[in-house]
Amino acid sequence: MKKVVKFGGSSLADPDHFRKAAEIICADPDRRYVVPSAPGRRFPGDEKVTDMLYQAYEKLEAGEDPGPELEKIKKRYEDIASGLGLDLGLDDEFVLIRRKMEQGAGRDYTASRGEYLNGKVLAAFLGFEFVDAAEVIRFDDDGSFNQEKTNTILSARVEGLDHVVIPGFYGLRDDGMVQTFTRGGSDITGSVVAAAVHADLYENWTDVSGFLVADPGVIDGPEVIDTITYKELRELSYMGASVLHEDAIFPVRREGIPINIRNTNKPEDRGTYIVETTSRRPKYVITGIAGKKGFVSITIEKDMMNSEIGFCRKVLQVFEDNGLSIEHMPSGIDTMTIFVHQTEFVEREQQVISGIHRAVQPDILEIESGLALIAVVGRGMRDTRGIAGSVFSALASRNINIKMIDQGSSELNIIIGVKEKYFEDAITVLYDTFIPDESDGE
Ligand code: ASP
Repeated sequence: MKKVVKFGGSSLADPDHFRKAAEIICADPDRRYVVPSAPGRRFPGDEKVTDMLYQAYEKLEAGEDPGPELEKIKKRYEDIASGLGLDLGLDDEFVLIRRKMEQGAGRDYTASRGEYLNGKVLAAFLGFEFVDAAEVIRFDDDGSFNQEKTNTILSARVEGLDHVVIPGFYGLRDDGMVQTFTRGGSDITGSVVAAAVHADLYENWTDVSGFLVADPGVIDGPEVIDTITYKELRELSYMGASVLHEDAIFPVRREGIPINIRNTNKPEDRGTYIVETTSRRPKYVITGIAGKKGFVSITIEKDMMNSEIGFCRKVLQVFEDNGLSIEHMPSGIDTMTIFVHQTEFVEREQQVISGIHRAVQPDILEIESGLALIAVVGRGMRDTRGIAGSVFSALASRNINIKMIDQGSSELNIIIGVKEKYFEDAITVLYDTFIPDESDGE
């Protein structure tokens, strides 16, 4: 068996967490490829090393001395190294980092040093070989990740190596510049490594025991999802649920490699398995609930709209011309409604309105802001009757007016639009409806 194990920033924030991570890695010889993030927060209000590195870069850009920031960062690593009984000569590393920054190595290079140094420390502590991500993770010059090139280089580089540490978050472009993924991108590195080495499992170690059925900020102590499919996860992450970087799914998905989200502080917990497909019956009809605020709906009414060929296309063209992506588009016979992100829409609002008037001469054009979308997601919904009915009655029981309901044709999700002020209430009543409290004897 080959396992790739990625440890998030909170799992590698101080010597104690390094020890826990090392214990986990050493407990299973199959955990051969280790991908670390940069040190995260040690306590609420603490700074993440990546954020400190961005600050150092900004100072330099503003013509100020980044020295104090770099000193603070160096101290973080020195504390970790000395806490682990390691002497790594970090002075030289920091002299080089500063020099490279001054020579124009760039923002991404600066940020990448968080993972680079953490990788060095972890490799030394574990006695594993360190493989620089700049050697094996490759981007094209336009900034897009090159999976093919990476697969070739990475698999050749680690061939014959038993245990390696490859820092997360960054790689190299063909022009020699270091480039990072977007924030939280070490998750992507883990997935890329798993795909390249044909791993059997990608373990993603973090500070929660898996993917939760709903946001713990809304629901008190939500249940952990035991098994979720990539598709379900994609729906939930798109709607705001976050544990894993959204793009981390794609590399492993292509190879059918499962991801197991685990808790570094509770390694005995099984965590959540993210899989391509499964015969495991979901515990509940739904797998998860997630939602986002900040949407606007634009409703267009016109008599005989249904018989006007090309009507929808003309309306959609207006949105495309204004660079707006559309979230949902429920329609009636003579009406259509378009949901977009409020922050993007306000910038282009008047252009969109006049564009629609010119394109289709509507009878009525109405805008409603302050809307939230909630996704109820679950592979179990396909085989169960009455889900939409339960959603309606649950929301009605709390006097919540449904602005929109949209069931995807895959029957994997139901999207509900409500006023933002009902957001938390709606999620709570949906959770209570679909995830029966076990203490109630159900
Ligand atoms: N250290 C980077 C960040 O804070 C990447 C990661 O942690 O995955 O975004």
